[in-house]
Amino acid sequence: MTDVQTDHAAGVPGARSSQVVDFALSPELEAFRTRAREFAQSELAPHANDWDAHQTFPREAVAKAAAQGFLKITIPQAFGGTDLGNLAGCVMLEELNAACASTGVTVSVHNSLVCSPLAKWGTQEQQAKYFPKLLEGEWLGAYCLSEAGSGSDAAALVCEAKADGDDYVLNGPKLWITTGSEAGLYIVFARTGEDRVKGITAFLVERQMPGVGIGKKERKLGIKASPTVEITLENVRVPASNLLGELGRGFTIALDTLDGGRLGIASQSLGIARAALELIRGHLATQVDHKGRPTASQAHQWEMADIAADLDASRFLTWRAAILRDQGKPCGPEAAMAKLKASLLANRAARSAVSILGAAGGGLTGTAERLLRDARICEIYEGATDIQRLVVARGELAR
Ligand SMILES: Cc1cc2nc3c(=O)[nH]c(=O)nc-3n(C[C@H](O)[C@H](O)[C@H](O)COP(=O)(O)OP(=O)(O)OC[C@H]3O[C@@H](n4cnc5c(N)ncnc54)[C@H](O)[C@@H]3O)c2cc1C
Repeated sequence: MTDVQTDHAAGVPGARSSQVVDFALSPELEAFRTRAREFAQSELAPHANDWDAHQTFPREAVAKAAAQGFLKITIPQAFGGTDLGNLAGCVMLEELNAACASTGVTVSVHNSLVCSPLAKWGTQEQQAKYFPKLLEGEWLGAYCLSEAGSGSDAAALVCEAKADGDDYVLNGPKLWITTGSEAGLYIVFARTGEDRVKGITAFLVERQMPGVGIGKKERKLGIKASPTVEITLENVRVPASNLLGELGRGFTIALDTLDGGRLGIASQSLGIARAALELIRGHLATQVDHKGRPTASQAHQWEMADIAADLDASRFLTWRAAILRDQGKPCGPEAAMAKLKASLLANRAARSAVSILGAAGGGLTGTAERLLRDARICEIYEGATDIQRLVVARGELAR
């Protein structure tokens, strides 16, 4: 076997498998994962069911996450970030979400949907103004794209931004905004022209700007400790200096940002799936005969095996997309594949945990039933499952 590999590799530098793909994290990333896991298990896991039951936003835990540097993961050190990158972000988010998906999505949105685009598309003045607040968690960020008539079809948005002297005046509600009621800064996508795509511009809108309001809070099936609210904009005067990127580039910014965001939701899905797998494993491990041999039903063991295999596969898809993004390469279809597979798995794993644990899994205060409710959203936001399939299919047809 070794000889065959050597022969194949002869004359092709880097062709040996050990030089091409390394599935292990670096020692530094492994240490970071351990730190994130310890934080999540001590600061989030013991409280997650309670926060969920009372719909309590975990403000203190998010502040502690900020103190760990978890709110500035993709931001260059020149701006005050840790610059660990998207792969580190995925590793961290799997850990946070395995403990509490509500905290997980808060951290994911802040990093991938707000800080990352500000680093990529923002001016030096905007970065100097907002990063000090965002990176230390004094302000949280929210991303305002969706509206009543524009979810999957984001280009159908109608929120209006009219030029008026040196300002733009924004009007129109934004719906289902994660962290909306807790945020200090919103990235708002609004219509500045008639063209469906080129008529959309991104704006940096501060919570304290006159005319910004917090509307209805949604009652939800899952991630109940993450507030999802309507943001109302009534004659909000935003200086032209708060355009993020150029006039008419908003849709490009929205989609590019979502490629990064999907890595976060794929990692959220991995965390939920892993937590479900751990519940199943813990339950089946107690089922032994008098000699300590497993007696769990084969159906349950095989389900556990399938989930374990799919979890590894989904994690590698997620890490591949994150590495591409860290290398500055396009990762649209790869990020969509990762979210597609991981979010389907999160739902399957959580459903199986509820079934296999029986009464304990489906009880009113059990972790398994929270995982089942939390998993559902992974297939909806930042592009529903069908939309991920659409992105992957377009990538295939463009080959
Ligand atoms: C808890 C929560 C938090 C959210 N947070 C945010 C946020 O922070 N910021 C933000 O901007 N938005 C947010 N959203 C909105 C979210 O991104 C949208 O709900 C999502 O994009 C789907 O849009 P929709 O709900 O309008 O469903 P629709 O677009 O109406 O889709 C309904 C169904 O039709 C399918 N479908 C739609 N179009 C197609 C197509 N072309 N081909 C095949 N199937 C299709 C979809 O896959 C889906 O199954 C959030 C939503 C929720 C529920």
